[in-house]
Amino acid sequence: MSDDKALTKRSEDFSAWYNEVVLRAELADYSPVRGSMVIRPYGYALWERMQRALDDMFKETGHQNAYFPLFIPLSFIAREAEHVEGFAKEMALVTHTRLIQNEKGELVVDPESKLEEPLVVRPTSETIIYDAFSKWVQSYRDLPLLINQWANVVRWEMRTRLFLRTAEFLWQEGHTAHASEAEAEEEARRMLGVYRDFQDNWLALGVVTGTKTPAEKFPGADRTYALEALMQDNRSLQSGTSHMLGQNFAKQFNLKFQSETGTEEYAWNTSWGVSTRLIGGMILTHGDDNGLVMPPRLAPIQVVIVPIFRKEEERALVLEKADHVAAHLRQNGVRVHIDARENMKPGSKYYEWERKGVPMRIEIGPKDVASQQLMLVMRQEIGDIPRKESVPEANALSIIARRLDDFQRALLEAAITRREKNSHRGITDYAKLRELVEADAGFIYAGWCGGADCEAKVKEDTKATIRCLPFEEFRSPEAPKQCVVCGKPAAHEAIWARAY
Ligand SMILES: [Zn+2]
Repeated sequence: MSDDKALTKRSEDFSAWYNEVVLRAELADYSPVRGSMVIRPYGYALWERMQRALDDMFKETGHQNAYFPLFIPLSFIAREAEHVEGFAKEMALVTHTRLIQNEKGELVVDPESKLEEPLVVRPTSETIIYDAFSKWVQSYRDLPLLINQWANVVRWEMRTRLFLRTAEFLWQEGHTAHASEAEAEEEARRMLGVYRDFQDNWLALGVVTGTKTPAEKFPGADRTYALEALMQDNRSLQSGTSHMLGQNFAKQFNLKFQSETGTEEYAWNTSWGVSTRLIGGMILTHGDDNGLVMPPRLAPIQVVIVPIFRKEEERALVLEKADHVAAHLRQNGVRVHIDARENMKPGSKYYEWERKGVPMRIEIGPKDVASQQLMLVMRQEIGDIPRKESVPEANALSIIARRLDDFQRALLEAAITRREKNSHRGITDYAKLRELVEADAGFIYAGWCGGADCEAKVKEDTKATIRCLPFEEFRSPEAPKQCVVCGKPAAHEAIWARAY
């Protein structure tokens, strides 16, 4: 377990650093199937914390959980033309159901077991869910229908990265049906707001929100709203999306209802999702050269207590104090772990818990017991929070609670400060845009005429895409006048960046 070897520095090789953090913090591991990932208990505990917070938010906004099948008939996916085109290249299919032994005794697919219709392993569940909705909805009284499911999905990706892009990943997908376009639009925006609240106030990502261009929207949606976060290497991470699906799926799946005036109408749908990719976003936003840094609200362990003693007679005294402090903190809702492992130096324990991103460590030695003090050490120097301080045990609880709150806030502030420092506004010259993109300078704000060819040209020249057309509060004080590519009048301000 003890592994004091330093991580690769971010400045040396950001990508290697990321992989080492994931593996050595024991969040995840590679699996025998390329592109698949094992989520280890510490990583899964983090995902459970995220699930719980989001699930509460979904329920507070009126949604219920349900579960729909993993397998989707191929004909379902094929019904919505844009949808099938968008997912065609990354589908896993079940075509047979049985193995047999051949003459050599090898296991082979039994050709007799071929399915009449192949089944798609869900890449997303719009089709199968709206098919079910069409049976449940008859009248306007059945609307709105507000459903969420927690599930795994499969998208056969060729280039994968732990948490950021995996062939199978865990997520939630919300699916709703409404009687009017206005209600569906409101829902799509509301859930984007829920995501923003979670991503800023829990994950401390400091996201920008906006609308995707037609080229970047979800296949089958009328409009896609997205959250984009700027990672430490100045690449953008799409950290969540919310789609206004219009009546596209309702028409294909006969999702109709009788309106108040007795007419028969198609429902309006939304869908929205976030995934285990958020864990990658957390690492890339907050991690440092010592490893992970967890926002306290999500950290499975908020405080680790390391008892320190040399002599046997100190042992019981120190451990008893550690138990006492831990019990008191737990009673008050703090998630505490005591690292009482024998035969391991305190220094090695410090490294390990730093690497795992635990926000605070408490060191308790014989002198601390005698003076009734506790030594608090924060995971990282940030804001104006003392990195290390000795506090009286009597007021430790309130100090610890305050430090954790301050740490949470400071992480968000740091993320936003870094994002804005690496945001380049008012770019009017195409050569300048290329130069900034090629230097991975961050978010580049510039005018866009709305033309797909201008958008495609930037992508071809630089691999940068329009991350979003930002909502008003993120736009520059002065609206751009011209398209940075063609010079025609600008229809929008766009944010360009290379992305994960
Ligand atoms: Zn243009």
